[in-house]
Amino acid sequence: AVETLGSTTVICSDKTGTLTENQMTVTALVVGATRFDVTGIGYAAVGAIVHDGAPVDLIGGSPVREALLAGALCNDARLVETPAGVSIEGDPTEAALLVAARKAGLDDAALASQPRLDVVPFESQHMYMASLHRSDDGGVVYVKGSSEALLQRCVERIAEDGTRRAIDVATARATVEDLAASGLRVLCLARRSAPTGGRISHDDLRDLTLLGFVGMIDPPRPEAGRAVVACRRAGIQVKMITGDHAVTAAAIADALGLDGARTPDGRLRAVTGQELARLSIEELARTAVDVAVFARVAPEQKLRIVEALQRAGHIVAMTGDGVNDAPALKKADIGVAMGKAGTDVARSAAAMVLTDDNFATIQAAVEEGRGVYDNLVKFITWTLPTNGGEALVLLAAIVVGAQLPVLPVQLLWINLTTTVVLGITLVFEPKEPGLMDRPPRRVSAPLLDRTLLVRVLVVSALMATAAFGFFELAQSQGLAIEQCRTITVNTIVVIEVAYLFGCRSLRHPLWRIGLFTNKWVWLGATAMLATQLAFTYAPIMNRLFHTAPLPLLWWVYATLAGAAILAVTELKKALGRRA
Ligand code: ADP
Ligand code: MG
Repeated sequence: AVETLGSTTVICSDKTGTLTENQMTVTALVVGATRFDVTGIGYAAVGAIVHDGAPVDLIGGSPVREALLAGALCNDARLVETPAGVSIEGDPTEAALLVAARKAGLDDAALASQPRLDVVPFESQHMYMASLHRSDDGGVVYVKGSSEALLQRCVERIAEDGTRRAIDVATARATVEDLAASGLRVLCLARRSAPTGGRISHDDLRDLTLLGFVGMIDPPRPEAGRAVVACRRAGIQVKMITGDHAVTAAAIADALGLDGARTPDGRLRAVTGQELARLSIEELARTAVDVAVFARVAPEQKLRIVEALQRAGHIVAMTGDGVNDAPALKKADIGVAMGKAGTDVARSAAAMVLTDDNFATIQAAVEEGRGVYDNLVKFITWTLPTNGGEALVLLAAIVVGAQLPVLPVQLLWINLTTTVVLGITLVFEPKEPGLMDRPPRRVSAPLLDRTLLVRVLVVSALMATAAFGFFELAQSQGLAIEQCRTITVNTIVVIEVAYLFGCRSLRHPLWRIGLFTNKWVWLGATAMLATQLAFTYAPIMNRLFHTAPLPLLWWVYATLAGAAILAVTELKKALGRRA
């Protein structure tokens, strides 16, 4: 999952709660042709219903009051007073309606006088909820939901003065779009008289009377906006997939800085689930790539979007929370489930669970994925010359017919100690500068590219030359074979230590990433040298590994060789960057 995250090219994210705060506040109310503003922000009932700057008086039978009553009764949320302020239980959309009702003076007592008798619960695919309540005239059904779901079920509307009029669906739609264009989430409120039998079902939700519309803001998360910008710089497209209204979705997407196909008037183009359903496979492929906003999308359609993006060669991360999101989460290269809002089904279908439900965290995870992969490549680039160098030393000895410059047990010693003491420290290498300024890694790209392969070969050759050269030099000076072999091993190890610093970054020279930014490397280097001193001078090690104590001069030689190899790799990086 981490590897795939690092190569992600598209992130498809839910809107509500992931890109936005999911902190709803009703700010607008439209009844008849009149727009009212609702003041105050958050869940505290501080604010009022105002029109033309003046608070409106909401007497008993006022249609404004009834619209707010509908929103508060057809509601499963609860407001809880805590010492820190008001917190909510349930859906923030519904909690916002409760708060708006309180601002209009509809307190719990007022609501309790009309107890609920039956309910049609909210479901995403229906986009509405209805509840049956006791009333003076034998019962009333209140309905709230999206305008798409409810307007077609309305036969009449209530005017500002409380009279009933015929409904004009075109005008009603224009009102909705007007509210949505400023990024408001719009709910439609309606009522009808109670059907006989004291129960309600989906079939009863027809011949409704439109009460009005509420518009609520759900501010974009500021950190999500920054994460969107970071993704764009990192060559990752961000797409919003939401159940919300197309105009609302596009307005929020614009505020967040999403980029994609635009309408002639410069706004982000939003494609609805209905339009998606009509597209052919080829059209879908093009649309999925070009468009950034998908609205009124059914969970099943997420799967089609993922497949279309994947056919276009994208590596897709997709968020989801509901049971119906599971197929899309499974199909995506990285399924991301919501930790707070998510269902167990979504969580078990996903590769990653977002414990804070926040888009910025996905971007951070991508960065982390890139960092982990980066460090993996560094480790491999560092470790290969150990084996390459050893092999070449042995090969050289065989070719010139010399005695074995290293014994098998000494090779074992090098491989075990350097990997554990030195190599592991690269895991702690912090993410290097510019990590999120690079384009996503191609999945087909080899682990080591040409530059790195050449580096591995050059370092192997230099290491072998130094190690075998010093071995021959020591022999020609008449040192004991144990000493000559100790020199070979020490040379290889010291070069490994020096080259380790050169592998801390594969593109930036050491002075750019900072000499002391990974203290583990220093700790490893120190530990390795201590171990190597014991290997050379401790009598027990001499016996176990057939080594022998050396004069200081040979350490100086080894250090010079290490320094030379480090200088070569750093210079190569510095020159490569300028080219
Ligand atoms: P999203 O929350 O991303 O908009 P949902 O699938 O949850 O997507 O909701 C789809 C639509 O249903 C919403 O845009 C809204 O119009 C309507 N809706 C959402 N919550 C409720 C609710 N509690 N009661 C009635 N309608 C709702
Ligand atoms: Mg929702």
